[in-house]
Amino acid sequence: MRQVPIHNLSGDDKILGMTKKILIVEDEPALQETLSYNLKREGYQVTVEGDGIKGLATAREMQPDLIVLDIMLPGGLDGLEITRILRQKMNVPIIMLTARDAEIDRVLGLEIGADDYLTKPFSMRELLARVKAQLRRVRLIRDEVMTQEPPSEPQLAFGNLRINIVRHEASINGVVLHLKPKEYELLQYLMEHQGQVVSREHILEQVWGWDFSGGSRTVDVHVRWLREKIEPDPTSPSRIITVRGVGYRFED
Ligand code: CA
Repeated sequence: MRQVPIHNLSGDDKILGMTKKILIVEDEPALQETLSYNLKREGYQVTVEGDGIKGLATAREMQPDLIVLDIMLPGGLDGLEITRILRQKMNVPIIMLTARDAEIDRVLGLEIGADDYLTKPFSMRELLARVKAQLRRVRLIRDEVMTQEPPSEPQLAFGNLRINIVRHEASINGVVLHLKPKEYELLQYLMEHQGQVVSREHILEQVWGWDFSGGSRTVDVHVRWLREKIEPDPTSPSRIITVRGVGYRFED
């Protein structure tokens, strides 16, 4: 699995406050490269798989925000089969790629649960437009659900500090904090592991991605920023405790 963290976010993602993960399952190296390059340039975090079995496994593991899926794939599972399996459990938008301009593929692809399709060859402009449209559609549905059922939003609270996992918002005494996306993710991760010592390496892997190229200093810097926002006295932290030589522990 190849994964490249990206730090410049595109317009849509800034609104959401977090990088969208896209999985590409495609066996043609040239197309893998082009898709990957163009999606990364738009600010998406891109993972590429070249065959069906790995594609399915990675889709389940990484829970992408969108999948670009070729129909004809090596490895015993084709795009249609993958879609059928994924649809039993996941609502992720799927854009299918097909080399065959046959109507049967299109119809079958959509019947089986793909959200959109492109027939090769297609322009990257077209692909990016479709990706954005699918992600926007998901966001609209989610916003709708959020406005309809505000009480059901999952929250996590310790004392007066509360996070809203759907909105990616943290608040103290009901006042929303201005956190950067990674600060929020770090806080959520620490709160979810309240009372446990978590190492810098583990935090890096979980919050920044396993092959993030920056060092563990990144974690320390973000912890410092976070402390300034959530600690009553940042010079003497009572929430994010440093565990010398290991990492950090979130205290209730
Ligand atoms: Ca193919």
